[in-house]
Amino acid sequence: MLMLEETHPLSSKMKITVDPEKLDNFSQNHVSFYMKYSSFVFRVLKKPSFQKFLHWMLEKEKIEEHTVRAVHVKVLPLRRKNGKGIAGNCDTSGGRIRIYPKTMKFCQIFTQKFGRNTLLVYAGNRARAALIHELLHLKYIEDEKTVRELTKEYFFVFTQKQSAEFACTLHLHDDIYGKISGEKVPPRRKRDSAWISQALKW
Ligand SMILES: [Zn+2]
Repeated sequence: MLMLEETHPLSSKMKITVDPEKLDNFSQNHVSFYMKYSSFVFRVLKKPSFQKFLHWMLEKEKIEEHTVRAVHVKVLPLRRKNGKGIAGNCDTSGGRIRIYPKTMKFCQIFTQKFGRNTLLVYAGNRARAALIHELLHLKYIEDEKTVRELTKEYFFVFTQKQSAEFACTLHLHDDIYGKISGEKVPPRRKRDSAWISQALKW
């Protein structure tokens, strides 16, 4: 049988992982929630359309695919010392990327306010943006400002390429992000149309 799914080297390096010693800190209910979350994110990130996009982005940035050793979709969330959640991190010398979920508590509040479907859109986009961000760190190692700027640009390109499914999520994302975090999301700056139209050719 012919494989319909296009395989990309990055896709084969992705796996769901859990730190067994941390499992004791979570109830059975939490663990099963995070298992579902991670398998959802795993599927989202492995989608051929997104993998194709990442392949194009790595090529454009001249980041060689072999510098990515592994992408771990972590089952359990991770918090900074200040209590803020982490979306992802990258061990640039080892080429290992980790993507973390939002907490169950956050997801419950979010679902109450906006519904489950919106949560799925949000969780998927958050994971995509995190992976784009961490991949860019392989090149712009310490340059957080450039990484953030480029993440926005590339994420925008990706969403533009999606058909109706993601046509308005970027807007939605800003809107919801603003409501959840209480932060004012700055208006999207005017984009360089030449850059975008060139980018959309991937
Ligand atoms: Zn960063």
